[in-house]
Parts: sequence; structure tokens; C-alpha cells
Amino acid sequence: MSPFDTPEAETRGTLLTLDLGALVANWRALGARAGTEAGAVVKADAYGIGIEPAVTALSRAGCRSFFVAHLSEAVRARAVAAEATIYVLNGLLPGQSAAFARHDLSPVLGSVAELQEWAAFRQGSGAVRPAALHVDSGMNRLGLAPDEALSLAGDGSELVDAAGVGLLMTHFAASEDEGDPANARQIAAFAGIAAAFPELPASLMNSSGHFLKGCPAYQLTRPGYALYGGNPTPGQPNPMQAVVSLQSRIIQLRDVEAGTQVGYNGRWTAKRRSRLATICLGYADGYPRNASGTDTVPGGTALVGGVPCPFVGSVSMDLIILDVTEAPENAARRGEPVTLIGGALDLETVGAGAKTIGYEILTSLGRRHARRYVGV
Ligand SMILES: *Cc1c(COP(=O)(O)O)cnc(C)c1O
Repeated sequence: MSPFDTPEAETRGTLLTLDLGALVANWRALGARAGTEAGAVVKADAYGIGIEPAVTALSRAGCRSFFVAHLSEAVRARAVAAEATIYVLNGLLPGQSAAFARHDLSPVLGSVAELQEWAAFRQGSGAVRPAALHVDSGMNRLGLAPDEALSLAGDGSELVDAAGVGLLMTHFAASEDEGDPANARQIAAFAGIAAAFPELPASLMNSSGHFLKGCPAYQLTRPGYALYGGNPTPGQPNPMQAVVSLQSRIIQLRDVEAGTQVGYNGRWTAKRRSRLATICLGYADGYPRNASGTDTVPGGTALVGGVPCPFVGSVSMDLIILDVTEAPENAARRGEPVTLIGGALDLETVGAGAKTIGYEILTSLGRRHARRYVGV
């Protein structure tokens, strides 16, 4: 039976299969590895997996702390996780306090202005959920500078108290690269800040942080990518279970002679007599156009009957052309499924084929796919 033989999938050209059992297993494995409470980063629609199914599955498994980027994402998470603490990493934008309180959410405060605005609001409203305090330990993106944070400790702690801060956190800039000396600098800077706020629980590890030698776990971790099956140790075997697979179908096949130009602007030319297959997916489905396979730069790959087949020519809005000359004949047939993500095509391989990273592949997963949740 074809995976497309379901009422939803039969009307679509692509099928995204999401293994929530693997998601939960990855969350458990990361918590066990850290030896402390693992939260879950579910920003950007849970990295494309779907925020409601991801938060529901993780809550059932015992996850109590979620991190999102936007307030709107937190509202969606709250709708399926009434009890959880839900932190909004992008912090408090001017005038948002009442909306945070209405949904019982926790801003991640990253500047004195945010601390002051939230503290002033709390005085009047008595919002009960703790906020987090974000300290910048070297990324220069979000958070208080270490000096600023230290001046708020000890005698300056009134503002931190008034803002109801219940978590101290910082974020790594390069934890996937064991050899980057920035990691040790960030670990040391954060240790100094955590020591100045001894009463506050702290959070440091993102996915790769769990695998970084010498990285302290503190009281709460914040994995994202690895939960969804991304490899937190690039260049080494992936310790996580795969969560995402993506399949499409062959629409048409054709044989072309050597010298034939293929696709928009003829950016790929057949070097031999070739069998081509056109499949039901393109950049409008979230597969980057940068995965085009041209005469000079190779692009993405699909598995046809288990055989890797290169993309040839430009990725179009709704279509991709594959060179299936090497694929088994019974798989390179009209209507047959092909795999874009899954098996040998892990997220890192797919990202590399599109000149990007697995994170961007995941978070670009389009709205046109049929979705099938398994493992629940
Ligand atoms: C996105 C994000 C994470 C999760 O990072 P991964 O590399 O996906 O594990 C953790 N903390 C912060 C502040 C983030 O923005």
C-alpha cells in the first residue's frame, strides 16, 4: 500500500510523517543525559512539527517548561498546556504586559527597560508566573550585559524581585562546535552571574550544550533542534531518533539525450542519456530553491527505491526534477513515492544540499503537506 492511500494524503503531493513517540524519547534522553529537568523549545511551530501536537505529547510525558519566540506562539502552547510555565524568548515588547498576564505567560526579560515595564505592571496586577532574566554571555543578540546583570544582584536586586524573576538564563553562540573557544568563555561568564544570583535556578544548555564537555546542566535545559531529531553533534553519529520524514510522488518520467537542457533557464545539461522524474514538490512547499542542481553546483537529493537521485535544474515553485537513471525501474514509476527527508537523508544532509542548515529545513516545512502524526 502506498503511504499516499489515505483520505488526506491522496489529495496532496507530499506527505510529512511526524513521530511524536520519537520526540518524547528524545526529550527523555536529553533530560537523562543532563541529569536535570529538560524543558522544550517549541518556537516556530515546534520547528515545523506542529506546536499543538508537540506540546501535548511532551506535556503528557511530564515536560513542565516550554520556550517559544513570540507571544502568539505562547498563546497556542497555553491552549494545550494549562499548567506549564511558558517562556517567551523574544521578551516583552512595549505594551504587551497585559497580554502576557491574560494568558499566564512568562516573559524572558533581556534589558532594564523590560524589567522595569514588567515590574511596574506586576505591582498593579499581581501577575503570579515567574519571569526569566536573560543575560548575554557573548552572543550580543539579546540579554543584559554581564556587568549590567551583576549590578542588579545583591544590593540592586529590588528590581529583579519586583519583576518576579524566577529563572536566570543565557544562550550559546557555537555549542555545536566543540572546538570553539567561545564556549568556555560563555560557560565562565555565566558561572559568574549564576553565583551572583544564588537563589535563582539557571538554564544554559541548548541541544548541543547537552553534549558539550564541561558544560554545567544547572536546573533546567532548553533543547530544540535535537528534540526534533536534528544532530546536536554535527560530524559525529546522530544520538537522537528521527522525528520527521517527508515524501513526495513521481508525476511524470521522460528520457533525454546527452546535451539536453533541463528546467527553468536550462541550468542543468544532461551529460549522458538520462531518465528524469518530475516530483510533486517545490519551493512553495518549503524546499529551498538553493537546492537546485546546476551544471556547476550540485543540489539536493531524493531517495527513489532507496537510491539517492540528484535534483537536476532549478527547483520550481511546485516541482523538482530528479535524475533517476540509477534508480530501480520498479520505483522510478508514475505515482511511486520518493523520500526527501528520512533514512539516509537526515536533516544535516538535506540542509547541506540546499546550502543551509537542518534547522532552516525543519522550520520551512510548508503548509501544503499532508501531515501524519505517529507514535502516540
Ligand atoms: C532556539 C533557542 C534554543 C534552542 O536551541 P537548539 O539549538 O535548537 O537546541 C535555546 N535557547 C534559546 C534562547 C533559543 O533561542
